Amino acid sequence: LLEGLKMNFRTVCRSRPCSICLKTDWCAFDAEGEASICRRVPGGICKTDSTGSDYWLYTTDEYKKKEDVKGFIFPQRPIIDFNERHKVYSSLLSHLKLSSKHFHNLNQVRKLAEDQIFLCQYRTIRGSDDVMVAEKLLKDFGKTICLRTPGLFFYENDRCKLSVNEGLLIPVRDIQGRIVALRVRIDEPRQYLWMSSSKPGSAKSGSHIHFPLSDYSNIEILRLTEGELKADVAYYHTKVPTISLPGVTSWRLAIPFLQKTRPKLIKVAFDSDFQEKRVVASSLIGLCDYLKRTGFNYEVEIWNA
Ligand SMILES: [Zn+2]
Repeated sequence: LLEGLKMNFRTVCRSRPCSICLKTDWCAFDAEGEASICRRVPGGICKTDSTGSDYWLYTTDEYKKKEDVKGFIFPQRPIIDFNERHKVYSSLLSHLKLSSKHFHNLNQVRKLAEDQIFLCQYRTIRGSDDVMVAEKLLKDFGKTICLRTPGLFFYENDRCKLSVNEGLLIPVRDIQGRIVALRVRIDEPRQYLWMSSSKPGSAKSGSHIHFPLSDYSNIEILRLTEGELKADVAYYHTKVPTISLPGVTSWRLAIPFLQKTRPKLIKVAFDSDFQEKRVVASSLIGLCDYLKRTGFNYEVEIWNA
C-alpha cells in the first residue's frame, strides 16, 4: 500500500479517528505523528493503492521539506470546487462529438433512447482530439486552472493535452448533477480509466460516486452498483434510483449518502464475477455486513456481465 514511504501506518479507530475526515474507519495515521492517510477527503498528495482506489497522503510541513530535498515534485492539488470542475468538464465535452459507433452501442446494445444519450452527454475522443480540446481549454480557462484540472497535463514548451486520447467519455456526476470527473471506456481491450494525470505537476481525479441525473430528495429504494455507465443504464430501464461506486472496494464512499437518505431498501447489484474474484467477494461481504449492522434493509442482485 505505501511503497516507498518508510512510515508505520495504523488504521484509525474510535479512540484515534482520522485527523482529516474525523471518521473512525478506513483511513490511517502514522504512529510518529508525521502523516495521515485519508480515503475520503481529496487534498495533500493523491496516491493509488493496489486495488486502484485513490487515497490522500497528508504530511506535516517537516516531512514535505525532506521530500523536497530529494527533488520530489509534488502533484498539483486538484480543483476541489465542484462548480469549477463542472465548468471545465462541460466545456471539454462541448468540443467533442459522439461517434456513430458509440451512439449505436448505447442505443442498440444498451437500449438507451436518443434523448437520454443526449442528456447524459456521452462523447467520443479519438485522433488528435486530446491536443485540440486541451488547447481550447487552455485558451478559455488559463494555465492555473488547467494545471489543477485532473486529466490535463503540460509537456514541452507549455503544450497541453488530455491524459487519454481514445475512448468513450462518461460524465461522472455528483448528487446535484455537476460533472465532477470523466470516466473513459477504452474499447480494445475493454477497460475503464479516469481522465486523470499522475504526472508530477498535474492533478489526479480521485475516485467518485456517480449519481445519474435524477431527484434524490426522497428515496425509498436505492440501488448501489459498480460502474457509471451501468448505473445510467440501470436507472433508465428500471426507474429505481441507482448510484455507482468507482469500484466495489470503495463502498465506504457511499456511507455518508446512505446515512443521510436512509432508503427503506437498498439493492446491492454487482456482476456475477465476484464469485471468482476474492477482493470483490470480500468487499461485497464487508458492504452487506455494514448494511446489516447499521439497520438497513438490503437485497443482493447478481448481474450477468
Ligand atoms: Zn479520513
